[in-house]
Amino acid sequence: MAGTRFAYVRNFELPDSVIPSVYLVVRIDGKGFHKFSALHSFAKPNDPSALELMNTAARHVMSSLKGHIALAFGESDEYSFLLRKSTTLYNRRESKITTHIVSLFTSAYVFNWPRFFPNTPLQVPPSFDGRLVVYPNEAVVRDYFSWRQADTHINNLYNTTFWALVLQGGLTEQQATKQLEGTVSSDKHEILHSRFGVNYDRLEAIFRKGTTLVWTHATAEVPAIPGKDEEESEDEGTVLVNAKDEKLRRKLQGKRADKQAKKQEKKERKERTAVLRTLHCDIIGDEFWLPAPSPPTIAGSEQQSTSSSSADTKDTEAAISIKDVASSQPWNDPSRLNGAGLGTAVFLD
Ligand SMILES: [Mg+2]
Repeated sequence: MAGTRFAYVRNFELPDSVIPSVYLVVRIDGKGFHKFSALHSFAKPNDPSALELMNTAARHVMSSLKGHIALAFGESDEYSFLLRKSTTLYNRRESKITTHIVSLFTSAYVFNWPRFFPNTPLQVPPSFDGRLVVYPNEAVVRDYFSWRQADTHINNLYNTTFWALVLQGGLTEQQATKQLEGTVSSDKHEILHSRFGVNYDRLEAIFRKGTTLVWTHATAEVPAIPGKDEEESEDEGTVLVNAKDEKLRRKLQGKRADKQAKKQEKKERKERTAVLRTLHCDIIGDEFWLPAPSPPTIAGSEQQSTSSSSADTKDTEAAISIKDVASSQPWNDPSRLNGAGLGTAVFLD
């Protein structure tokens, strides 16, 4: 009940709604994960099970906030979630949105830990921080995700070379750091190739490209407008033929057409966002964002991905048992490697 003499304290709570019609990105980041990964003996330079656990937690966020988040990108101990421009989640309140996403992610990370590390009990409770940034348009949003993916590449090339020098080359961590000082990308490629026989570009895509989660459609083609809606509108139209005011009739018809177009658009959007895909593909170039030149290669890709598409799309969190993670290596499934045209629904609203 309001009305007590204490109720005035409510006035100290300030509004923090973000302006409408802009894109919101919430980036969460592991707190002290350098120490956390050492404590739990994560593999160097990359631990695919740890990354897959991050992906599982992020898919939980995407599923819980279905319709609000269009895309997510993760690498190392961080994940970025892109909220739809039109989202009205928590009345667009910054603190509510950020804290809820951080909370969903963290609890899912802890909840799923035993499935990914059955022989390694959690030593300490992990935690994540989060920030919300507002971006004005699609071009800047794309640049944001390009920035994160470029960062993935730079860090991974460095770490891969660094740990090759330490684990295979016998250098101390200090010596490896020193050796890599001032090197450029091509130097690191060369060290990997000539000294360790590693072709960097053939390493697992999940390490080089990070993980992109996107709501997309189950089939490449959006279903045609069902005849039922058309019939309905025609019926309504004939009733109005008797109305004398032709202008009014046209106006109403126009309004109805608008309404129907909006309804159809909503329906199409729903169709397009029915399936959550997990990808390790390039999102810097246009290929991911623009419609694929020849969409129906679906038959082929479905065949390739039968095993993981069910895991990725229907119930990602329950479908992969821990034994599967280690042996089936879902991150190498071909269905995760081709993202052509799958980003087309990201900016729909
Ligand atoms: Mg961190």
